[in-house]
Amino acid sequence: MDFFSKLGDTIANVGKDVTQKAKDVSGIAKLKLDIKAKEDFIKEQYIELGKAYYEKNKGMDVPEKVQFDRIEEAMEDISKMELLILEIKKARRCPECGAEAAETAEFCSVCGKKLSIVVEDYPYEEEEIVKGEAAVTVNTED
Ligand SMILES: [Zn+2]
Repeated sequence: MDFFSKLGDTIANVGKDVTQKAKDVSGIAKLKLDIKAKEDFIKEQYIELGKAYYEKNKGMDVPEKVQFDRIEEAMEDISKMELLILEIKKARRCPECGAEAAETAEFCSVCGKKLSIVVEDYPYEEEEIVKGEAAVTVNTED
């Protein structure tokens, strides 16, 4: 074997090594992705298990009471924030079906239930209150 054919072989072998390494790398990357997918799957199962455990045991004296309380607090916070959103949007929930309805709507647009009328602020009443206070102030000064 002369120098050039040896060199040719070497280059070919290096080429094979690179190709093999690339295959290994992509194989590892794929396996890592598969592992990640399985880990995510396990996480989802844990969440489902936790949820089922919570639903079955809420309100009971369980060793995980701290977590139970945290979940309930977070749920209350969510309810408060959802109410805030309704307030900002000047809307409310239908007591029958839970659909969002405008504050001024008389009927639910989803189930048709008659909604209670929201009492608006009457500026006249406020004026009268102010007048009453003014009168009191005048009386005190006398
Ligand atoms: Zn409704």
